[in-house]
Amino acid sequence: MLGILLKKQNPRELYDNGINAYKKGDYKVAIKFLSKSLKNDKENPKIMNAMALCYSKMDNNITAKYYLLKACKKSPINETYKKNLAIIDNIENQKKEAEKKKIEIDKQNKEREYQEKVSKRLEAEKRKSGKIIDEYRRTCNKCGKVWHSLVSREKELAKLKSDYEWRSIPCCSGLLTAPQYQRNRDAVSSDIEMLKQCPNCKSKDYNEEIVSHEV
Ligand SMILES: [Zn+2]
Repeated sequence: MLGILLKKQNPRELYDNGINAYKKGDYKVAIKFLSKSLKNDKENPKIMNAMALCYSKMDNNITAKYYLLKACKKSPINETYKKNLAIIDNIENQKKEAEKKKIEIDKQNKEREYQEKVSKRLEAEKRKSGKIIDEYRRTCNKCGKVWHSLVSREKELAKLKSDYEWRSIPCCSGLLTAPQYQRNRDAVSSDIEMLKQCPNCKSKDYNEEIVSHEV
């Protein structure tokens, strides 16, 4: 059907069919009619302008601009073609601006990520060299007493406890006898327990948070 219509019609009819398709939003069909019309009426800027509108609607502003420049060249005093060209240029400029902005934001994000990485690394180094000290800050839920305990100290004790635990198995003991290791283990266990109970009322019901100090 489309093929027959395309063959039969003169440039004027083809143009009208193209515009009708354009109005319906059928830009591909519109372009078929219009380009056939333009083939038969090569110098007509009105057809070029219509072609440009279709391509612009299809988000192909490069081709749209090509046809508008041609139309403007054919008819330099026509205000509509000039206006359409300005609109296309404006759209393209806005796109470029948006792209630029996106690149700038990406750059800023990368920079921020890098800075965060650096400061995290610095903090880790400070912690390692003892310039940052982490402490448990515990608050008794029964009497409200607040007490502090070094995270590193508790880690050491926990490690010691598991070491003694392992050595207190008779076959694994080293220099000391298994019962001696068991006594050591129990001593460490009670040390740990002491740190984890309220020094005031002995309650083990508390809230804890880790606070860091730089020294
Ligand atoms: Zn308490």
